[in-house]
Amino acid sequence: MKLGNYVEGSWKEGLGSFAPLFDASTGDVIAEASTEGIDFGSMLGYARTVGSPALRKLTFHERARMLKALALHLNSKKEEFYKISFKSGATKVDSWIDIEGGFGNLFTYSSIGRRQMPNTPHFVDGQYVPLSKEGSFGGHHIYVPKEGVAIHINAFNFPVWGMLEKIAVNLLAGVPAVVKPASITSYLTEAVVREIIASKILPEGALQLICGSARGILDHVTSQDVVTFTGSAVTGKMLKSHKNIVDLAVPFNMEADSLNCSILGIDAVPGTEEFKIFIKEVSKEMTVKAGQKCTAIRRIIVPEGMIGEVHTALQERFKKLTIGNPSTDDVRMGPLAGKTQQKEVLERIEELSKCCDILIDGRENLNLVSGDMDKGSFLGPTLLMCPSPMTSTIPHETEAFGPVSTIMGYKSTSEAIELSKKGQGSLVGSIVTSDDDIATQMVLGMASHHGRVLVLNKDSAKESTGHGSPMPQLCHGGPGRAGGGEEMGGMRGVFHYMQRTAIQGHPTTLSKITGVYQPGAAQPEDTVHPFRKYFEELKIGDTLISKTRDITREVIDQFADLSGDHFYAHKADSDFEGTLFDSQVAHGYFIISAAAGLFVDPPKGPVLANYGIDELRFIKPVYVGSSIKVHLTVKEKIQQEPREDEVPRGIVKFQVDVRDEENESVALATILTLVANKPS
Ligand code: NAP
Repeated sequence: MKLGNYVEGSWKEGLGSFAPLFDASTGDVIAEASTEGIDFGSMLGYARTVGSPALRKLTFHERARMLKALALHLNSKKEEFYKISFKSGATKVDSWIDIEGGFGNLFTYSSIGRRQMPNTPHFVDGQYVPLSKEGSFGGHHIYVPKEGVAIHINAFNFPVWGMLEKIAVNLLAGVPAVVKPASITSYLTEAVVREIIASKILPEGALQLICGSARGILDHVTSQDVVTFTGSAVTGKMLKSHKNIVDLAVPFNMEADSLNCSILGIDAVPGTEEFKIFIKEVSKEMTVKAGQKCTAIRRIIVPEGMIGEVHTALQERFKKLTIGNPSTDDVRMGPLAGKTQQKEVLERIEELSKCCDILIDGRENLNLVSGDMDKGSFLGPTLLMCPSPMTSTIPHETEAFGPVSTIMGYKSTSEAIELSKKGQGSLVGSIVTSDDDIATQMVLGMASHHGRVLVLNKDSAKESTGHGSPMPQLCHGGPGRAGGGEEMGGMRGVFHYMQRTAIQGHPTTLSKITGVYQPGAAQPEDTVHPFRKYFEELKIGDTLISKTRDITREVIDQFADLSGDHFYAHKADSDFEGTLFDSQVAHGYFIISAAAGLFVDPPKGPVLANYGIDELRFIKPVYVGSSIKVHLTVKEKIQQEPREDEVPRGIVKFQVDVRDEENESVALATILTLVANKPS
């Protein structure tokens, strides 16, 4: 089967020089890939001129709905993906992580887009910054989508997740993608992309695919593009130093190999729940995907006196491990992805064995339940032990990208931290301890050298997502050797594909541009009360100025009795000497309640409910004899997704500015209301 490249709106086969791709268990040729004759420059141009404008005009909510539709569509086709995935050596569990884990990313980013981001194509970042004495000039920040293309150069180990975890983010940002999976497992990525394209859920130009070599693609990047790379440090460094990346300041996010560790706390002695958790996690990370995970545990850091027990416990678990062709039942660990990978891993074991003892040798006595030992790329779990980890460098630098890990002993918690940092930057480190003091010391000690730190104990282990799973809500990446990159992390990842721009001007102009009322902007008054207006009829800045209300001793006392809040400041007979107050002061909560009494228009109408208050501040004490009024201003509007059983509506945020008789603000708040859409 010749793989297709999805190029400028159609599927194209390469012209020649097809590279054979093999079944990892049987060695049979299952596909061929070629990119000969494919014009990468033209592909990138197509993404910029066709995909980019189509995506940029959509709002975050529209893009997010697209991601959800894509996840649901792909989920309905998942069985065919599993069948193909087995050929890469992935077991059912491995494939689940890759395939359904990838869909999970689409779902999560869809939810982030709809719940945490506005229904506009751009994003308003942070708060208004006043820059003048009189209030007529200030600044703000906005994010807009970059007008280029995201070029994703991916590793072979997660052909589905590797693509989806990345495109979920750039698509939500409004940026198209060109995906280049590692050739060796690109047949699975191709099958998924065929379904994505056939579904017509994405606008044309939003996604293109290269199956086979992409050498030369970076010759065509421009300053609006973003390149992400996942793979070996050697390739990553070579690509990162490409002239265009350097000269045009093209963002280049690199996720490279890292020597992740897991540390057993000194308290987690054999027999404790934590010891069992540690053994389970280490053996899982060594065998899932046959250890071909960027996050796999390569260094097992344990108290010196427990090396023997850890070795024995791991050996017991590996005895039960069935290895073979994943398409047959009962196989718990498959082969490596191919012969090249197998050869590389064997070379790395040789390298490691220069300073380590081999405790369990996965090259020997492999009890295969299925698959072909010669033609397939099998290797059993291989455990080494480094007797001098503080002085040896090889186990901290040599990544065997397979089921291979090295035990090393430590004498003290601070030595364990030092060992963890000898990896010179890792994607993830985990600590298994029931002692939160040890956990705190280790996390704070290790964090500078790790992108993620997981703490496991008997209370968290059951529901833990595990050492090996990057979560879309959290950052994935790591410093130094791990590539210095960062991706996902909820909204943070989206901003990697957007330009943050500081904007300056009059608050009224900034209100118009951002769609959010800025302090000091015009506040036009209308004779129609805002509670009588439907969502569409409310305009940013529209303001109601209420009547006034006198604050008397009686109402303060009544509020104290009603609420039960008899704090000294609210009592007339308190001694105010040495306090912040001169005399009896009204409760802040009373002022805000009284404000509601002033601005609310009672009859039923478009305002369906008030569901909360944000940013509540009591600015100035309100004493007996003051009088207050409210400036109620439409601050922000967010259209909600229509749901079948609900009145179509949006969220309207009103700024409540309570002022005293001197027209000075005494309290500020943002109230959140649900306002019905105008009936059609
Ligand atoms: P690799 O050999 O470095 O290849 C990575 C990607 O780069 C592949 O798609 C490859 O394409 C492409 N590539 C190579 N040379 C290129 C060039 N001149 N121009 C454009 N693209 C080029 O890595 P791998 O063997 O696929 O992956 C294994 C390594 O990745 C391991 O070391 C592992 O630790 C690391 N990894 C890291 C992470 C992470 O998140 N940090 C995740 C997964 C894997 P071809 O396949 O066509 O050569």
